[in-house]
Amino acid sequence: MLCGDNGLPGRFLILDFASHKKLLEETTGLTLERDVPLRGFTSLGIGGPAALFAVTDSPSTMGKLISTATGCGLEILVLGGGTNLLVSDEGFEGIAVHARILGVELSEDGDRLTVGAGVPVAGLVEDLIARGIGGLEFAAGLPGTIGGAVAGNAGCFGCTFGQKLVGATVVTGKGEVLEVDDLSWFGFEYRRSSVSARQAVVTTATFAVRPDDRSRLRREADEHLRNRRDRHPAKEIMTAGSYFKNLEPSEPGGHRTAAGALLDQVGAREMSVGDAAVFERHANIVINRKNATAENVLELAGRMAAKVKKKFDIELEPEVRFVGRRPGMGF
Ligand SMILES: Cc1cc2nc3c(=O)[nH]c(=O)nc-3n(C[C@H](O)[C@H](O)[C@H](O)COP(=O)(O)OP(=O)(O)OC[C@H]3O[C@@H](n4cnc5c(N)ncnc54)[C@H](O)[C@@H]3O)c2cc1C
Repeated sequence: MLCGDNGLPGRFLILDFASHKKLLEETTGLTLERDVPLRGFTSLGIGGPAALFAVTDSPSTMGKLISTATGCGLEILVLGGGTNLLVSDEGFEGIAVHARILGVELSEDGDRLTVGAGVPVAGLVEDLIARGIGGLEFAAGLPGTIGGAVAGNAGCFGCTFGQKLVGATVVTGKGEVLEVDDLSWFGFEYRRSSVSARQAVVTTATFAVRPDDRSRLRREADEHLRNRRDRHPAKEIMTAGSYFKNLEPSEPGGHRTAAGALLDQVGAREMSVGDAAVFERHANIVINRKNATAENVLELAGRMAAKVKKKFDIELEPEVRFVGRRPGMGF
């Protein structure tokens, strides 16, 4: 079966997706869905349909899926918890793959923890505290999955996932399974890694852990949870957390300036576009009050960034990843 971009627009692309779907289903044994709205898979509650949608809990199926989709020239979106994504209202003209790889395994000597990419971070941390296992308590209450946290080098309270990682299993765009123990492969930087650029999918991640006192771990986690409760929107509010990255330190070893501090000084907390609004308690958090569109969020973020640029001559860089076609950009 021929696949790849047939160069024909409009209705011919629809036929093309049908043949990609058939080939992907034959290769993987999965049942794929068509035109699945992504808003239900993002914490912002925004996003049009993915042309193709697959869910897998198996690393080897993930390998087949990724290599076949790559061979078909399909764009691939790996979905974790969807807590750091803004998906276009027009959707995603490719295949969204929901990585639901689960499982948590502690090494015999208790110093390595291997976790499936689809495991939710916050639940994992609670489980580790209950078992007296220390190392990831900095991430208490962090939304999203292990795969997303590693791919985006998520961090909080002075620590990042890149600092705790000691190895990982990834599937490459060619469908090869790699055991990565040289962490330079990940190219970790502030809130980013090379995972997306390498078109790879994290299937498991291994972290350095240690036996620790349960009540000490509980105290530390509770402090982080309190901090999040005070500064972040409640769980039922639709948001992707901080919209912009904090600024590079002005000198080596210095602290980052919080983007929220600059946004506060330009009155961002008062700003909104349609149902997209800045959270009243945090100038760097955009929320969806009810029916915000991606276009609303982009316009609001653009206005926020423009105010900061005008007052401080500083360009803010989004931390939230935009997926799909930007409004008005055409094919
Ligand atoms: C209330 C709130 C508070 C937050 N606080 C913080 C914070 O303190 N610190 C922080 O860093 N972030 C924070 N975030 C942002 C978000 O929670 C993190 O970035 C999180 O790690 C994203 O994980 P996810 O599984 O939801 O990833 P997704 O949003 O699903 O995906 C994010 C990126 O990772 C990629 N990805 C996901 N899974 C995989 C995989 N298995 N393999 C390869 N690539 C993958 C996706 O393709 C995408 O590019 C917050 C978000 C919210 C809503």
